[in-house]
Amino acid sequence: MLTSEVENYPGFPEPIVGPDLMTLMRKQAERFGVEFIPGEATGVDFTRRPLQVKANKSVYEADAVIVATGASSRWLGLASEKRLRGKGVSSCATCDGYFFKNKDVVVVGGGDTAVEDAIFLSKIARNVTVIHRRDVLRAAKLVQERAFKIENIKFLWSSVVEEILGDQQVEGVKVKDLKTGRVYEYRCDAVFIAIGHTPNTEIFRGQLELDEMGYIKIQNRTKTSCEGVFAAGDVVDRVYRQAVTAAGSGCQAAMDAIRYLQTIESR
Ligand code: NAP
Repeated sequence: MLTSEVENYPGFPEPIVGPDLMTLMRKQAERFGVEFIPGEATGVDFTRRPLQVKANKSVYEADAVIVATGASSRWLGLASEKRLRGKGVSSCATCDGYFFKNKDVVVVGGGDTAVEDAIFLSKIARNVTVIHRRDVLRAAKLVQERAFKIENIKFLWSSVVEEILGDQQVEGVKVKDLKTGRVYEYRCDAVFIAIGHTPNTEIFRGQLELDEMGYIKIQNRTKTSCEGVFAAGDVVDRVYRQAVTAAGSGCQAAMDAIRYLQTIESR
């Protein structure tokens, strides 16, 4: 939902923005009669049968559950970043980019998200500066090449943001050049943080086996450590993390869950 242009989703010869792709997916699922219940799952009890998921102050029971809670954007962890969140600090270029029309914005990070966000923002903002802690990008080559050709995207290499400046609104960042040690102030109106993700697995702690980074461990395709619970997408995947791989893994989990339901029905 938060990504800008997705370049590699099969069937879309032109890039499609994340929220548009999700709207189409939702419509498609609705056509098959899927019922959507908006709300936040706040707890689970997978020790019981039926399995329980708590959300909206209700308890939902199911014979099978597919966990697809994804991963959330990581933050730098600065006090000024927290204070100015929503006041120029954002982790979502597609959501907040339009507030900074013809302004100067900074993107922190060097992966696909950072560079794709920079490309997206370059069409809205006056200047985009990507601040990256190394002197090479992690983003895909094609995406890098596109960004290098865009005139209003600039890169500050081997640099980190030490502080976000501003009282009521972002007014700049304090940048440290890691090669020279120089610390200086850099003017900007917004800072987009794009430094990766953490899996959303807090509510599964103690219920499902997680790896050392908090991703759900799966064995034998999409099966988790608990019978009847399957997991799919970024919540299990720290390698590929593409919309297309997540969709494929969702399909696998659905097929595994159906098969499981058929086996318990015939017991
Ligand atoms: P990522 O690939 O993990 O990149 C994170 C970037 O942030 C790296 O460049 C990293 O620097 C930097 N970073 C991490 N912690 C930092 C910190 N504390 N301070 C400063 N910089 C920091 O994350 P991502 O770009 O969000 O991409 C995640 C996955 O989603 C990738 O697999 C990507 O391919 C995928 N993705 C796919 C699409 C698509 O389907 N089109 C779009 C966006 C993302 P280093 O390079 O030095 O480690």
